[in-house]
Amino acid sequence: MNAPSLDETGPREVRLAAAAFNKMQRRLRAFVEDRTRMLAAVSHDLRTPLTRMRLRAEFVDDDGVREKMLEDLGEMESMIGATLAFARDEAAQETLEPLDLNLLLSRAAEDYRDAGKPVGFSPAPGPVRVVGRRTALKRAFTNVVENALKYGVSADVAVAVQGETVAVSVTDQGPGIPEAEWDNVFRPFYRLEASRSRDTGGTGLGLSVANDVVRAHGGEIRLENRVEGGLKVILHLPLEAAR
Ligand code: ADP
Repeated sequence: MNAPSLDETGPREVRLAAAAFNKMQRRLRAFVEDRTRMLAAVSHDLRTPLTRMRLRAEFVDDDGVREKMLEDLGEMESMIGATLAFARDEAAQETLEPLDLNLLLSRAAEDYRDAGKPVGFSPAPGPVRVVGRRTALKRAFTNVVENALKYGVSADVAVAVQGETVAVSVTDQGPGIPEAEWDNVFRPFYRLEASRSRDTGGTGLGLSVANDVVRAHGGEIRLENRVEGGLKVILHLPLEAAR
């Protein structure tokens, strides 16, 4: 029996790969469009009552109460600003491209180190090929690293290939997240009480955005509290070869 010629196998594989690519492209585009529209509409609609509240707050006699109200309103306005900025950025960036995750993430880790931030990086051997949206994937990664730096002092990033997926883990030395909160922290604007009371300057959007991006690429994020303390956030993504 002859080995199949390139004419029999090559084009078929190319066709299958192209079909999978197009399907993912369509899925991502629909996801981005839906969410962008929703985020823009909600942020816009929230601004109107907030402006009215700001005007009314100016009439509160008690100075302490008035200041606190204005502070809270300022916080809400900045969250809305961040949401709108995110929606605009998403709309502008939606091309899928083949990427080497080792390279993309090592550069991002290097940028942190150049800025004097403690971010370690161990790559997987060889290139780690995925197909995705560069800016969105980098954002998912940096959101998780920013959290490790904010809540857990330092970030150790490791890339590992596991069968048909790549696992990018970000480990820190902080307090971790109680297991009962694991679902909650992926909800938009959700923050643990301890983070609200400490001034960490977050919006509660970081993990929900990271999760949305990873899911839109056909992956998922998992959490682990380490026995020795600290949180491990693992971003799982399908390798290009698996699609
Ligand atoms: P934020 O802008 O508040 O950091 P995120 O969505 O990124 O929002 O995270 C949600 C909440 O999850 C945070 O407010 C914090 O309470 C908790 N969290 C996230 N990452 C970590 C971490 N590495 N260690 C401990 N707690 C974390």
